[in-house]
Amino acid sequence: MPELPEVETTRLGIEPWLVGRRIDALRVREWRLRWRVPRSLPAKVAGARIRAVGRRAKYLLVETEAGTLILHLGMSGSLRILDAAEPPLVHDHFDLVLDSGRCLRFNDPRRFGCLLFTTREPARHKLLARLAVEPLSDEFTGDALWREARGRSAAIKTFIMDSRVVAGVGNIYASEALFRARIRPSLAAGRVSRARMQALVASIRDVLTEAIGVGGTTLRDYVDASGMPGYFRQSLFVYERTGKPCRRCRTPIRQFTQGQRSTYWCPRCQR
Ligand SMILES: [Zn+2]
Repeated sequence: MPELPEVETTRLGIEPWLVGRRIDALRVREWRLRWRVPRSLPAKVAGARIRAVGRRAKYLLVETEAGTLILHLGMSGSLRILDAAEPPLVHDHFDLVLDSGRCLRFNDPRRFGCLLFTTREPARHKLLARLAVEPLSDEFTGDALWREARGRSAAIKTFIMDSRVVAGVGNIYASEALFRARIRPSLAAGRVSRARMQALVASIRDVLTEAIGVGGTTLRDYVDASGMPGYFRQSLFVYERTGKPCRRCRTPIRQFTQGQRSTYWCPRCQR
């Protein structure tokens, strides 16, 4: 599943091709995505100029003169910039055709992605309105996270993956950040000290920033805007390394299931 760094890498990859361009057409081949693409959408955006490409959590926001397109990659979606004449492949569900002769093409075998639209402030859209703080923003601090965790018995890993606590920290980056901050993933959130919480926030920022820097983590079906895989996998300390020696202390990495997700940790480094 594309996580926040993959989405940000995609945003960085598509932004220079989109901003300032006029939309010649929106060609939809499959309307039944996670939510149905509005039938009226192609007529609404045709001719509109693109002002900016933003992101909120894992949503991409293509801001145009007519309103904002809200895109989500879902479980298996990817976006590419191609020549508009390039024949579509199976699962290529829509093209945003630009006046440059290129198009932004969305591919999504599992169709959990979405393409929606708003003419209002995107932050007020129902999908975005209740999202918590961005992990790479200045408002995400160790003190704030520590205060929010007071009295919470949920495991710290579950807590930081909760989109009502912080937006867009998925399984890979939660596991890696907890390793770096030397926190046991099953520890109750309310029992993490203030100093450890500050270390955790710093680690979350670091792993996300590093992953964005190398183009996200290579996952089975993820490619970035130019079709290139990311290389962050080589820097992972614990994720999907069960039984392999810890890169810090050589103790075998362990795995257990937590909230239907696999958690990876080093029993020696994360006590
Ligand atoms: Zn270790």
